[in-house]
Amino acid sequence: MRPTARRLVQVLSSLTPPTTRPHSVSFIGLGRMGSPMAYNLFSKAVAETKGGTRFVVCDARTAVSEAFASNFAKEFPGTQIDLVNSPEEALFASQTVITMLPSTPHVRNVYAEAGGILPALLKIPREAAHATLCIDSTTLDVETARVVAASVGKLGARMVDAPVSGGVPGAQAGTLSFLVGGTKTAYDLAKPTLEWMGKNIIYCGASGAGLAAKICNNLVLGVQQIVVSEAMLLGQKLGLEPQVLASVINSSTGACWASSTNNPVPGTVPDKSPPCERDYEGGFATRLMLKDMGLAIDIAEATKTPLPLGSAAGEIYSEVIEDDPDTAEKDFSAVYRYLRLLKNKDV
Ligand code: NAD
Repeated sequence: MRPTARRLVQVLSSLTPPTTRPHSVSFIGLGRMGSPMAYNLFSKAVAETKGGTRFVVCDARTAVSEAFASNFAKEFPGTQIDLVNSPEEALFASQTVITMLPSTPHVRNVYAEAGGILPALLKIPREAAHATLCIDSTTLDVETARVVAASVGKLGARMVDAPVSGGVPGAQAGTLSFLVGGTKTAYDLAKPTLEWMGKNIIYCGASGAGLAAKICNNLVLGVQQIVVSEAMLLGQKLGLEPQVLASVINSSTGACWASSTNNPVPGTVPDKSPPCERDYEGGFATRLMLKDMGLAIDIAEATKTPLPLGSAAGEIYSEVIEDDPDTAEKDFSAVYRYLRLLKNKDV
């Protein structure tokens, strides 16, 4: 770490299990969503508690957590931000631990593997474990989430699955919807923390219910983004200006977030600054949408639910990445560019 950053940020290096912990929050996973979520949570907590609050951050990419902590400490002098290198240290440091990770393997890794949250819960006194609240906002498979939450519960702590809807703009504005699964008690405990990052905190039911709702929502979104791209291409082929077509759809029965906020054609909704205005940078990575389609397809197979459109959408996102691997990190509305080039190839 650079010396200037070292003055602003403390690196927590103790691996000693604590007997008591402050009411601080640890945030693990400072990616496109986690970073603005942690910023909102910490800055609002600072404002409410009038400073003196302590926060802890952790990311597999150390440079990312260093930059986050350093920038935050500069903006909010007097705030203590600790960097930790493992989920275990994050749990030792705080009673509330929030995770915002890419998917199932990362959640398994952070919770169940050596240096993870579950082994750490075994090392702290039972009362300390009982005071622990784990909030996982990752979109992952329902079964793994239920197994992890049950393991957390067996060790005396509480856990909710709290995946989000609203994308990067919602994370930045603090207007996310949190879809929460877990006991009602755990939901009530998590709600005040979630309200610092979101607008709608929706109780969906028992453990895994938040994820079930999230997977169904993203099934709709993934299909819509493709069909909006198809319509925008077809309309232009028929001689319509894309701005005119977008404003017709957005004020008609075809209106949806994929068109009104995340329209894939540059110049159509410039006030919303969608990723297409930046060559599809930022936003919701196509690899993550492909992952979410896979989650929907797998759970539909397991529950014998027909998913003809979802299955087709999964194949299309897979082809988008296969065709141009760089698209994996770009916003999933880049499916428009893939279809446009496909059209030009006269396939
Ligand atoms: P991302 O890939 O940008 O960020 C994930 C972060 O987790 C990265 O910084 C990565 O370094 C970190 N990480 C990975 N493994 C780790 C580990 N073992 N320990 C600590 N840190 C680790 O992903 P994102 O776009 O922020 O999405 C996060 C989750 O939110 C995903 O499940 C995604 O499906 C969901 N989601 C994303 C959006 C969106 O628009 N980006 C919207 C809604 C939901």
